[in-house]
Amino acid sequence: MKSLPYFCRGEVIRGFGRGSKELGIPTANFPDSVVDNLPADISTGIYYGLACVGSGDVYKMVMSIGWNPYYKNTKKSMETHVIHTFKEDFYGEILSVVLVGYIRPERTYDSLEALIAAINNDIEEAKVKLDLPEHLKLRNDNFFTSIASSSSVLPCTAASTSTSQTIMNGH
Ligand code: ADP
Ligand code: MG
Repeated sequence: MKSLPYFCRGEVIRGFGRGSKELGIPTANFPDSVVDNLPADISTGIYYGLACVGSGDVYKMVMSIGWNPYYKNTKKSMETHVIHTFKEDFYGEILSVVLVGYIRPERTYDSLEALIAAINNDIEEAKVKLDLPEHLKLRNDNFFTSIASSSSVLPCTAASTSTSQTIMNGH
């Protein structure tokens, strides 16, 4: 996928109450504006990467990009599980993410247990991959470090290692 790593940010909106939080795997949903900007070569499936809420710390994440049943599978959704335990929900906050690599395509599971096991595998794979030296440096990317000082944290004005004004993906 040519577009990886892919940087974007947007407000955390309410999802469709599929109860991911009850499964212990809450997923922060992006609005359509962020999803609609995805480059065509970013296919549906499970990705690993980094994420930060507001101007907070950068954590590892796994993201599912998939077809949204709520819209009769005509619309894609992007759902990020941040690999960190937060004290509170962060609806309405700006979530900044970089998609670093692809883990696997989406698929259905025979049971909830099988689904949870698959997601936990994804999380373990993400943790290992994101410790590779070539990925560690993304933590210090201008995209994340500039947030604290930036006055305008607009949805999906992505930055890159070299410039802060690049629209969307700087790579
Ligand atoms: P929804 O259907 O509204 O997306 P979820 O059950 O998927 O509900 O929970 C997602 C919400 O949980 C996020 O929008 C965020 O506010 C909160 N949350 C708390 N911890 C996390 C986390 N580690 N990763 C993602 N979201 C989290
Ligand atoms: Mg969700």
